[in-house]
Amino acid sequence: MPKRATKRGGERTPISGRYDVIVCGASFAGLTVARQLCGSGARVLILDRYEIGERQTSACGVPTAWLEAMGLEGSARQEFGELVVHTPHGTSRYELPWTFSTFDYRELCRLLDEQNDAEFETAKVNGRSGETVHTDRGDVSAPLIVDGLGWRRILASDGGYQPPDAPLSRGLEVHPDGPSDDLEIWIDRRYVPAGYGWRFPARDEQRIGVGSFDPRFHVKDTTVLLAEDLERPPVRYQGNWIPHELRAATEDIVFFVGDSAGHCLPLTAEGIRTAFYFGIRLGDELRAVVEGRKTRDQALRSYSMFVDEHEWKFRWMLRAQRLVPRLPARLQRVLIWLAGRRRFVHWSFGHYLRIAPPELAGPAPAPRSDPERVPAAA
Ligand SMILES: Cc1cc2nc3c(=O)[nH]c(=O)nc-3n(C[C@H](O)[C@H](O)[C@H](O)COP(=O)(O)OP(=O)(O)OC[C@H]3O[C@@H](n4cnc5c(N)ncnc54)[C@H](O)[C@@H]3O)c2cc1C
Repeated sequence: MPKRATKRGGERTPISGRYDVIVCGASFAGLTVARQLCGSGARVLILDRYEIGERQTSACGVPTAWLEAMGLEGSARQEFGELVVHTPHGTSRYELPWTFSTFDYRELCRLLDEQNDAEFETAKVNGRSGETVHTDRGDVSAPLIVDGLGWRRILASDGGYQPPDAPLSRGLEVHPDGPSDDLEIWIDRRYVPAGYGWRFPARDEQRIGVGSFDPRFHVKDTTVLLAEDLERPPVRYQGNWIPHELRAATEDIVFFVGDSAGHCLPLTAEGIRTAFYFGIRLGDELRAVVEGRKTRDQALRSYSMFVDEHEWKFRWMLRAQRLVPRLPARLQRVLIWLAGRRRFVHWSFGHYLRIAPPELAGPAPAPRSDPERVPAAA
């Protein structure tokens, strides 16, 4: 029984069927949820409008320990023990207490996808009524439904987010070829009044971009400016909206995870490890339901409570996101210099990692030896 059933063009035959779990979105959050359900015996369907790993929406930087904890170290491209911070008044070099790695998105998705025993269909999710998910290829249903669809939060009853009025940041980057040694960020109003620019090298390419906390500030021109300042051609664009406020983790019978739940950290816009982190917890909750250890209502409540326990940490990060751009440039520079002292860096980055620590991730659950799967196509 082939695991993939991707349909394109005229082959996009209708899908239908009843599942135990439907996971909408096959990126960091959705694939992690499916990972945790592996071997549970649940009939799980993953839906995404694109092939798995096809569309990268991130600079793909993550604490190395998270790649290792998830068994994804094969996707790593470059590892950094320092962060270089540029301001108009000088450059600071922070020696990090843990390392950060860039990875290849397609490869990471492939490795993560290998850790589930779910079915997969390419289909555009349009909405939901009750236990039924409506897609451009037909309706499928399940008692457990996950929205890992990113910032649009498509399965929300309020119709999701509409930029620029929603609490969203915007990010854009280019991917020129060529090596570079340092993980760098720029806090410089020349590039963005509130936000930062970055260069994340990934062995043979560089991810150069600008993120603005203010969704009304267009980052295209200054992304090009940063690339030009670094003498790199602005080629291979990619960008997206980035949520910077937590949203309800559940609504009715739907579980939200990753960007759809606002799990991306304010200030740093790090949303990959939090998608892993909350995805693991959500997958474990759903597993408890399919194994009869919890009811759906209990899982809805306990997942929601787990996310809520983190609310104050997100609130503090959001306060910092709002405060830092308002500080006079010289004060920013002094603070950045002070923050670069070794003891402070170790203390603050240690706490920062603990917002979503890699210890939550155990080894991927093993698949059952006799996975009897029925294709989703009608
Ligand atoms: C320019 C930029 C750089 C970034 N760099 C980093 C970084 O280096 N490190 C970091 O930690 N975070 C980074 N982020 C944030 C990070 O990308 C997100 O937080 C992360 O991707 C969230 O993962 P997710 O699985 O929740 O959502 P996504 O990765 O957005 O995945 C959503 C999935 O849903 C699918 N989908 C969407 N709509 C539909 C639909 N209607 N039907 C079917 N499928 C659909 C999409 O195809 C996609 O596969 C960056 C963001 C941007 C914009």
